Amino acid sequence: MTKIEQSQFSIPKKLEKLQNKLLNLRQTGKLLLQNGDVGIASAPSNIALIKYWGKNKLKFQEPDNSSLSFTLDHFRAQTNITVRGRFFPEGDAPEYVPENLFHLTDSESQKSTEVIPEKLSKFLKRILHPYANDIGLKIESENNFPTACGIASSAAGFAALCFALDNLLNLEKHFSLLERQYWLSQWSRLGSGSALRSTCLASSSKFVSWELKKNGSSEIKNISYHKEWNHLQHCVLILDSKEKEVSSSSGHLFADTSPFYKIRLSYVEENFTKFKQAIEEFDFDFITKFTEYDAFFMHSIMHTSTPQAIYLNTETSFVISEFVRFRQKTKIKAFWTLDAGPNVHILYLQKYHAQIKRFQKFISKEIGRKIKVYE
Ligand code: ADP
Repeated sequence: MTKIEQSQFSIPKKLEKLQNKLLNLRQTGKLLLQNGDVGIASAPSNIALIKYWGKNKLKFQEPDNSSLSFTLDHFRAQTNITVRGRFFPEGDAPEYVPENLFHLTDSESQKSTEVIPEKLSKFLKRILHPYANDIGLKIESENNFPTACGIASSAAGFAALCFALDNLLNLEKHFSLLERQYWLSQWSRLGSGSALRSTCLASSSKFVSWELKKNGSSEIKNISYHKEWNHLQHCVLILDSKEKEVSSSSGHLFADTSPFYKIRLSYVEENFTKFKQAIEEFDFDFITKFTEYDAFFMHSIMHTSTPQAIYLNTETSFVISEFVRFRQKTKIKAFWTLDAGPNVHILYLQKYHAQIKRFQKFISKEIGRKIKVYE
């Protein structure tokens, strides 16, 4: 096995301790799972204003830069987990371990997937080992927004999955609040990096940062914000809802081959504190400039990595340039951003809702078809 393959199976020491705690609970009869037990949860998606792109492949897939997101409370994954099979006494291995099953639907395509992706299958094996390796799980999940086209369905999906496991295992009873937050955020992160930013246990988590620490590990923080941000609204113009050709996780793997990669890392770290300060002080212009800048910066890296990952299409460029023109004319407080996909996200202050509606209509007219908007 190569070093990178090995690192994909190992987990941070602190997380391993919590896994051992679960094993101990099982051995002492305090953690019981029976056929038919259920865990249910939902979790929001999030849109990064400072992007996460690129990770340390040798260090438990920790990110190479700090990132910060706005929680999309209205875009959610709802996940139900049902246990298949039962725990056996120690040493009494079952002859047959029921396989894990997966059923995913989304409101956009009305399509459903029954095939369990390899990534999810590996993830379940890692998370259930060692305390529940003799059961299978039936996972049913639904996204109320399009999957795999740049609205971070993987973030909402893996966060909801971890919350549903948390519910199934009753971690609220077994772990301290800090342990539980760590377990949820780290497992979500190992499933899909930006999922970590959807696992904040704080009651209100509008802006969430994922900060790189000096020792190379990272942590989630609920960012304090100026009350004016309570009026921030979000919508996304769906230019293409087809599943993207290069998944975000493969794109991440090649990010560091871009000549712009290191330049962006230092640029982001230099501005990270200023960005958080701008959230506290409601410096809308700073947030606008930096967010739009970083979306282009991330896509420049995608376009110049080997192999290239190109997520944008001509309509994306058209919508962005028309949006900037519209903003100059109307003087509205609004900014755009992109995820790893062609669809344009717009964040704006509530009082400009009518203007944003006008802009959406204008885009449909110019493109010549009804552009679906999720908000
Ligand atoms: P996106 O931009 O939507 O995050 P990705 O390619 O990064 O696109 O991830 C999409 C993949 O995430 C899906 O193909 C699926 O494997 C997984 N995923 C999406 N939604 C869920 C969900 N609700 N539960 C589990 N996995 C999910």
